[in-house]
Amino acid sequence: MKKKVLVVGAGLFGATYAHEMANKGYEIDVIEKRDTIGGNIYTYELKGIQVHKYGPHIFHTDEKYIWDYIQQFADFNHYINSPIANYYGEIYNLPFNMNTFSQMWNIKTPLEAQNIIDQQRKTEKQGKPENLEEQAISLIGTDIYEKLIKGYTEKQWMKKATELPPFIIRRVPVRMTYDNNYYNDRYQGIPIGGYTQIIERMLDHQMINVHLNTDFMENRQQYLEEYDTIIYTGKIDEFFDYRLGDLEYRSLRFETDVLDCENYQGNAVVNYTDPETPYTRIIEHKHFDFGKQAQTVITREYPDTYSREKEAYYPINNTKNNRLYSEYVKLSKEIKNVTFAGRLAQYRYYDMEHVIALGLKMTSKFE
Ligand SMILES: Cc1cc2nc3c(=O)[nH]c(=O)nc-3n(C[C@H](O)[C@H](O)[C@H](O)COP(=O)(O)OP(=O)(O)OC[C@H]3O[C@@H](n4cnc5c(N)ncnc54)[C@H](O)[C@@H]3O)c2cc1C
Repeated sequence: MKKKVLVVGAGLFGATYAHEMANKGYEIDVIEKRDTIGGNIYTYELKGIQVHKYGPHIFHTDEKYIWDYIQQFADFNHYINSPIANYYGEIYNLPFNMNTFSQMWNIKTPLEAQNIIDQQRKTEKQGKPENLEEQAISLIGTDIYEKLIKGYTEKQWMKKATELPPFIIRRVPVRMTYDNNYYNDRYQGIPIGGYTQIIERMLDHQMINVHLNTDFMENRQQYLEEYDTIIYTGKIDEFFDYRLGDLEYRSLRFETDVLDCENYQGNAVVNYTDPETPYTRIIEHKHFDFGKQAQTVITREYPDTYSREKEAYYPINNTKNNRLYSEYVKLSKEIKNVTFAGRLAQYRYYDMEHVIALGLKMTSKFE
C-alpha cells in the first residue's frame, strides 16, 4: 500500500508535486489556505481578459523538457516580454540594448554606445563599490543609472540607492544589439486562457483531493500525526510560529481598474522609473494575450512594506535573513515527515521553470 501524502499549498510547486505523485499511484490530499488554486500564478478573467492577480507572469525557460512538460497543460502563445520604461514621459526600451542607447544618446552604433558607457563609468569614483549607486554606475554609467535604475530601485526597496548594498545589482544585463526581448531563454510565452487552468489540469486527477480555505497552521499537530509524508510549501518561519524571528520580504500592493478604452499604453509592461510616480509599473493585461476587447484592464503595482498578514513576494536574501533561514532549516531537519519546498519554504526567489524542475526532480526518486 502506498502511503497517503499531504501537500500544503496549491501553487505551481505543490501542483507539480501532487500531479507527479498521483501519476505514480499515490493518494494525495492538497490543502490550500486561499479560496483559489494556483498560488501566485493565479489568473482570473475580467471583461474577457486574463488578469494576473499576483503580478505579471511570463513563462520562460531554456530547458526543452520543462517547455514540453508545461505544454501538456495549456497551449502557449508567442508573447515576448519587451518592457518599456517611462521616465517623466521619456520612453525607453528595456532591457538595456541598442534601442535604449539610441533613444538616450541619439547614436546608432554599438561602438558609439560603448564609448559613452565607458566614459561615464570611468569618470565616477574608482575602487570597490560600497553601495548600489556606486555599483550600478560602475557597471552602466551615470545616464542609464539616473534615468532608468535609480528611481525605480529606490521605489522598489523604499530606500535610497546609497543606503542599499551593492550585491542587489550584481550585473546589469546589457545588449549591444537592437533586441528588446527581455529574456535570453529559447522558450517563452503566455498560456492561452491563463495560468489557473494549468493548475486545474494538474490537480484534476482521480488520486488528488483538493481542499480550499484550509490552513495547515490551524490543525498542524493533527496533520503531523495523520500523514507520514507532508510536502509543505508555505513560509518556513510561520511553520515554526516565528520562534526564531521573522524572515523579511518585500511586499507589493496592486490596484486594478477596468478602463473604457481599447488600448491604454500599447504594451503589457511599462515601468515608471522616475522617483515621483508612486507606482513602479503598470500592467495592461490584454497585451499578454494580444487581446482586442473593447475595454482594457490595467494594474498599478506599488511597493509595500511586509508584515506577517501581507503577501510575501520577494525574499530579502541578505546575510542576516539567510542566517536566520539556515537556523530554521536546522529546526526543519528534526521533523522527519515534512519536506519544505517551493519559494516560501526555501526562502528564495524561484521562477516558474525552477519550481517545475524541482517538483520533477523530487518526485523522480519515487517508484
Ligand atoms: C511579482 C512576481 C512576478 C513574477 N513573475 C514571474 C515571471 O514572469 N516568470 C516566472 O517564471 N516566475 C515569476 N515569478 C515567480 C513565480 O510566482 C513562482 O515561481 C511561483 O509562484 C512559485 O510557486 P510556489 O508553489 O513555490 O509558491 P506559491 O505560488 O506562493 O504557492 C504557495 C501556496 O501555498 C499556500 N499556503 C501557504 N501557507 C499555507 C498554509 N499554512 N496552509 C495552506 N496553504 C498554504 C499559499 O496560499 C500558496 O497558494 C514571479 C513572482 C512574483 C512575486
